[in-house]
Amino acid sequence: MVHLKSDEEISIIKEGARILGQAHGEIAGLIKPGIKTSVLDKVAEEYIRDYGGVPSFKNYNGSFPASLCISVNDVVVHGIPSNYELKEGDVVSIDCGVYYKGYHSDSAYTYPLEGTDEKVLLLLERTYESLYRGIEQAKAGNRMGDVSFAIQSYVESFGYGVVRELVGHGVGKNLHEDPEVPNFGKRGKGVKLVPGMVFAIEPMINMGTKKVVQERDGWTIRTADRRPSAHFEHMVAIREEKTEVLTTHQYIEEKYSFKWRSKSR
Ligand code: MG
Ligand code: MG
Repeated sequence: MVHLKSDEEISIIKEGARILGQAHGEIAGLIKPGIKTSVLDKVAEEYIRDYGGVPSFKNYNGSFPASLCISVNDVVVHGIPSNYELKEGDVVSIDCGVYYKGYHSDSAYTYPLEGTDEKVLLLLERTYESLYRGIEQAKAGNRMGDVSFAIQSYVESFGYGVVRELVGHGVGKNLHEDPEVPNFGKRGKGVKLVPGMVFAIEPMINMGTKKVVQERDGWTIRTADRRPSAHFEHMVAIREEKTEVLTTHQYIEEKYSFKWRSKSR
């Protein structure tokens, strides 16, 4: 069942999403070769708690051990922070959630480190673009399939694989609620988008096969062919007039030293 949010609830979610955006910015300033992913996790957790939030991912399902999902190269999502030190040429997805005043927010960004292969940079740029193509279709009166189709048709035109096992989701009092937001689907199908819906759109796009495998740790999801993957996520609120993007990558783009995106959005 989809829980529609009041304007008041949406403004609380926006407050939390701002803390989330700033936490992402704190980490963005630290991402460079030699940094341990566990250090990024610690910084994010402290930042979120300092501002009165709780990391949404910590102890998720009673078992996720960290505040960030950090997914490097062929890890698609749900990577666990560790002693691994980032190195030149890595691409690293940072996914973070904040629980604040009773509501969650959720967003993700994939960083290329300097030295990233040109083809992998293109994968990131196109995945980012697909997120915005999805957001453009996320408007009152459309159906979820319009969002899904916009993402899928764009990235598949480059031969990339769209992960099927994991999808975007409604967000609110629970981190994951209805509706599901698949990155694949048919135009005009799926649930109708109505004002008050709040959901995360999060394309997970693989350079090669769409197939993924799960590690024995019960969390880490990797591409089956071990080629790289990209992941970007925003939360939107459907409103009568204009859909509002609740999360922000602004602080990331300000703080991250490697200016890699060539496109304007
Ligand atoms: Mg999400
Ligand atoms: Mg997320």
